Amino acid sequence: MVHVVDLGLPDGGFLMVDLYRLLPEEVDALVGDMGQPRYRADQLLHMLYRQFPSGVSMLKQLPSKMREAINTGGFSIGSASEVGRVASEDGDTTKILLRLDDGALIETVLMQYGGDGGRRTRSTVCVSTQVGCQMACTFCATGQMGFERNIKAEEIVAQVLHFASMLRERGERITNVVFMGMGEPLANYSETLRAVRILTHKRAFGLGQRHITISTVGLASGIGRLAKEGLQVGLAISLHAPNDSLRRKLVPTAKPNSVKELISMTRSYFEETGRRVTLEYALIENVNDSRDLAEELSSLLRGNGAHVNLIPVNPTAGGFRRPDWKRITQFERVLKSSGVNCTVRVEKGVEISAACGQLRTDVTGKGRQIKGLTGRPHESCL
Ligand code: SAH
Repeated sequence: MVHVVDLGLPDGGFLMVDLYRLLPEEVDALVGDMGQPRYRADQLLHMLYRQFPSGVSMLKQLPSKMREAINTGGFSIGSASEVGRVASEDGDTTKILLRLDDGALIETVLMQYGGDGGRRTRSTVCVSTQVGCQMACTFCATGQMGFERNIKAEEIVAQVLHFASMLRERGERITNVVFMGMGEPLANYSETLRAVRILTHKRAFGLGQRHITISTVGLASGIGRLAKEGLQVGLAISLHAPNDSLRRKLVPTAKPNSVKELISMTRSYFEETGRRVTLEYALIENVNDSRDLAEELSSLLRGNGAHVNLIPVNPTAGGFRRPDWKRITQFERVLKSSGVNCTVRVEKGVEISAACGQLRTDVTGKGRQIKGLTGRPHESCL
């Protein structure tokens, strides 16, 4: 039997273990413990990641004895159900609210691109890693919501599979996953990594490692650890300011990690993994969008090789506003003229309340979301 302790479950464990928590090797061990041949493990994995069953009873191709053993062994399927949905008018962006087993509410967003009205060429899921967040970024709806708990690996996987199952009906599939939803992935390191390994394992969901991006507020120890995992996942660091005094106003928990340290981590991440890091910079009117700050950022990044993603801020609470287009392009021009690689994130789903934490805030009324404001989801920085 695969014991709960082997599965790295957080303190106290759980009565039931979701099959979507298991890595393929653990499924092999479980199936072996049940006295079943190895091909049953392949069969089970195939069903889990190609057919998306919603319960153990749906594993019809397995012998009933094995289904029984799964049930009596304390294994289950399914840890999230949809309780809300908003879609942009063009249908490119869909944001869902999922209820987890303990009633916690989280958001997941699907962003689709290309395909000219036919099958979409790119479908990116933006997953949440925590219910709420401890990082307290002043312009972020989730940051203003407080922290409830970490999201378990199987609940992260469930967010992706929820959309994968929906897309399968249209003959489409998930092409990218970005860890840019609610929460700080590197503050929930082991569950995030377990989810990445399941999503990328060839015998499980099988997404290419390079099609995953983890976005972090900049927890240096976590970045260092991630660089040594032997993975090819993309990394995005939320910088938002070129100096510590301004950055600490926007990201109050940033104190232990200086801007200089984070910039040097972009180099070491590249050296370890061969992957260039993206620096996210939420542009906020009259806060971090001046020409001087653009020049300061340019001199910091010259020759560094990192890519800057400028994100005109989604208005949430706190009175932060998005700069006008002229100011956005001026900031972009300064960076580009210094040879810094830079893009302004294209807007999608402007009419839906889709920025980090906004849908949940609308439903629960918690947080300081200003009603009536519209937002934009986080988008893939690939
Ligand atoms: N905690 C992680 C990942 C979640 S947030 C991180 O900080 O990177 C994903 C990205 O969305 C971050 O760059 C974050 O700063 C940005 N973000 C949050 N609220 C935003 C808003 N209102 N407008 C624009 N970007 C926002």
